[in-house]
Amino acid sequence: MPRKSPSGGESVKFQNGEFVSPDNPVIPVMAGDGIGPEITVSMRRIVDAAVAKAYGGKRAIRWLDVLAGESAQAAGKDLLPQETLDAIRQHRVAIKGPLMTPVGGGHRSLNVTLRQVLDLYACVRPVEYFRGLPSPVCKPEQMNVVIFRENTEDVYAGIEWPADSAEAEKVRGFLKKELKVSIREHSGIGIKPMSREGTERLVRMAVKYALKHKRRSVTLVHKGNIMKYTEGAFRDWGYALAAREFGGQTVTETEVTEKHGGTAPAGKLVIKDRIADNMFQQILTRTNEYDVMAMPNLNGDYFSDACAAQVGGLGIAPGANIGDGLAVFEATHGTAPKYVGKNLINPGSLILSAVMMLEHLGWGESGALVKSALAGCFAAREVTQDFARQMEGVRPLGTTEFTAAALARI
Ligand code: NAP
Repeated sequence: MPRKSPSGGESVKFQNGEFVSPDNPVIPVMAGDGIGPEITVSMRRIVDAAVAKAYGGKRAIRWLDVLAGESAQAAGKDLLPQETLDAIRQHRVAIKGPLMTPVGGGHRSLNVTLRQVLDLYACVRPVEYFRGLPSPVCKPEQMNVVIFRENTEDVYAGIEWPADSAEAEKVRGFLKKELKVSIREHSGIGIKPMSREGTERLVRMAVKYALKHKRRSVTLVHKGNIMKYTEGAFRDWGYALAAREFGGQTVTETEVTEKHGGTAPAGKLVIKDRIADNMFQQILTRTNEYDVMAMPNLNGDYFSDACAAQVGGLGIAPGANIGDGLAVFEATHGTAPKYVGKNLINPGSLILSAVMMLEHLGWGESGALVKSALAGCFAAREVTQDFARQMEGVRPLGTTEFTAAALARI
């Protein structure tokens, strides 16, 4: 059973495909591992202040602390306790700090498990530039993309077996005998499934978002020239879905060239695709030609960090894992172990994830307050060390000082 909810709180509802928030929603919060607790404290203080200011005390979040990762283990529970999953299911909208995953052995990624168990099939990561921040590129202000990364399939989804395990040997034997495919001895084996259903629901969410927010294009990013029946199918299913369900509101890039003289008809959303390796160079050289993007899991993981680097780094890279009727908001970065307890880390990524959460609750006014407080800090060169070290003559603020500076602007 979920833990007892904070008094006076109610669950967010999901009606006609939309999240509907009461004035006092219960929001489960997992502080996470590593730097998670430090950035979570900062995020909560800033969100509470913005909500209080925006709604004069009529609305307030009732935070419900739930455990996951090392904190759950320390309390003698599973790494991802059932009561945490139950609380998220019950209250529908949650927020989390990063969770540690050991490399090469140990437990499976709790982040991947959470996304799969709750079927949070879209990882949504907006990347935009804030004036005043340092960047390794000449025109960072041209970056304004929203990445929809498929979250439950692909080679990244964790179907894999170690070299020499009984399972890997079984798969190797099956492939050799039944399909005449030879895999070298002592190979670890991973499987890359990509389904039509998984692709369609992701692309549908991306196209709906683009239409609702009057964006210019949706780009399908894939490696379909090589992995034809997974990544190539992602592209084909994506185009087919857009034509079938949104044909009146969309046009393909090919149609724009061949039928419309190179200019998209007014009000139409352009659907295009790019091969992933080309996409990585295009986002650097033709940044402003890209807008909403949809891609399989592994491409999306690499691509969202690369985009974040173009606008200053992971310290301001927010995200959300969204399914039908459930949403878990989280920073794009991990547990940054070398910074734990040093009061050096940038809480911006989790704070901006909370802005996405507030918008999702229909509390856009408070989200706008938080965003403009952060933008004000950045413009005034009030930044943490990740940005300060890339700027001339700026004294870095600690995590708590940065939080105080943002609070002062709310
Ligand atoms: P990471 O924790 O994201 O840290 C990599 C680097 O990114 C840091 O050393 C730092 O760069 C920069 N960075 C990260 N967060 C930052 C912040 N808030 N402010 C400023 N800079 C920040 O990646 P990792 O070291 O590869 O992974 C560590 C652990 O996190 C692993 O166990 C991994 O599995 C896990 N992880 C979890 C999630 C998740 O929970 N969703 C996501 C990714 C990784 P500098 O060294 O240049 O300062």
